[in-house]
Amino acid sequence: MRIVLLGAPGSGKGTQAKILVKKQGIPHISTGDLLRSAIAAKSKLGLAAKQVMDRGDLVSDEIVLGMLKERLSETDAQKGFILDGFPRNLVQAEMLSELFAELGLSLDHALLIEVDPDEVVARIAKRAEIEGRSDDTEEVVRNRLQVYKEQTAPVADYYKEQNIVSEIMGAGTIEDVQKRIEAVLRF
Ligand code: ADP
Repeated sequence: MRIVLLGAPGSGKGTQAKILVKKQGIPHISTGDLLRSAIAAKSKLGLAAKQVMDRGDLVSDEIVLGMLKERLSETDAQKGFILDGFPRNLVQAEMLSELFAELGLSLDHALLIEVDPDEVVARIAKRAEIEGRSDDTEEVVRNRLQVYKEQTAPVADYYKEQNIVSEIMGAGTIEDVQKRIEAVLRF
């Protein structure tokens, strides 16, 4: 099964993806995590990406697509995957469609997790206290939400045209949201 998770920063994509990994037996591929690994490894790519991420802007489409292609070619991704953080704009959505066409793959589900913007801000503030991510400061979060609204929200419409979007209410407990996702995946 190949799934794309869509939703604002703080909507719970990463949390839900980790639970799905256990239940579906397919890997969670997060472009944010791939970029943070590149930063931790102090690679040239990581250093360049860090500056952009710390502002809350998007890293270049080519860089992210390159990383993603490499990750998708690994053995564990052959039986499917949960993609989180990609595509983040319409250019990336088209790049992904092209890549899938080349590989003869199709996307089964685009799950759009919908959360109230105030709730998102509160969740990220809480996460900032625990994880200390350098892009979770108030000003950067505001920019990330703006980038989401302008560039990422249209991606949901792109997949709606393909009739593969399911809207998931992101309010409630982690278990509540997981149950809603499972109900969608059962069909
Ligand atoms: P969140 O969903 O909370 O914003 P992520 O870990 O998905 O967190 O992303 C963190 C940052 O990594 C983004 O703000 C952006 O700078 C960069 N990033 C992640 N995925 C992409 C992508 N597909 N294209 C460009 N930049 C990306």
